[in-house]
Amino acid sequence: MQQRTNEFLTRDDVININELASSISDYYFPESHIDPSVIATKNQITFSYGNYDDSYDGLLEHFNGKFHIYINIDKLGHAYSKRSRFTFGHELGHYFIDSHRVALTSGKSPSHGSFTGFVSKNRAERQADYFSSCLLMPENRFKSFYYSKKFQFRIIEELASKFGTSLSATALRFCAIGNHPILVVCGFKGKVKWYWSSYDFRYKWLKYGKDKIPEDTVAGEYFELGRSPKTTEEVFAMDWFNIKSEEQAIEKFYEHARCVGDYTLSIIWEE
Ligand SMILES: [Zn+2]
Repeated sequence: MQQRTNEFLTRDDVININELASSISDYYFPESHIDPSVIATKNQITFSYGNYDDSYDGLLEHFNGKFHIYINIDKLGHAYSKRSRFTFGHELGHYFIDSHRVALTSGKSPSHGSFTGFVSKNRAERQADYFSSCLLMPENRFKSFYYSKKFQFRIIEELASKFGTSLSATALRFCAIGNHPILVVCGFKGKVKWYWSSYDFRYKWLKYGKDKIPEDTVAGEYFELGRSPKTTEEVFAMDWFNIKSEEQAIEKFYEHARCVGDYTLSIIWEE
């Protein structure tokens, strides 16, 4: 199989982790809102919410066959914030993904503090992040929400509020199992921090790779001009992508960007 241009997660990760996490949510919470702390309790994993400064977002500790999850509310706000929930799901990922648990119990990879929310370059961390998004947004319920609805940015917002997840986690989930191809680009200080797209999104290469958010995009204008429109804007293929012909250049796309401080999150799609 052809490798993705962007090694954010492999195709196997996307399939296997989704199956694992969605089945856990459907088992413990077939109807209701998913509460990661209840899943921990049912698996004899203890946990604590504490103030641990800037050291990490969360941590899964293993000692004498017992597991304990630490959630750092200094960094995540409070126990029921979106980021706390997401981090809790991430630590559960280190428990439920076999290779992670084995690495921990065998002492190969001792407890490490996690920085969650798709910010880590480490593959195990991204797998745990993806596990968390699948756990909090189980496949069948996620799909039934947008079934037969035409894609627009509002769908991502509505899904995020329904599942109690961040916009970026929700958009990435939609990349994997949505009903319309989208591209998600996270910008930081004018550069591309990460990007990921649906498998069938037609363009795989950004105009400047990860070096720079292209200037004529919504996110680019935020970094260059401080402009931050609240609405969905039209952009052209040549604005975002590495294009090969004049016909391609003027293909129409939509971009909706959320811009806060040094960060942008752009969702890009075609009609
Ligand atoms: Zn981690």
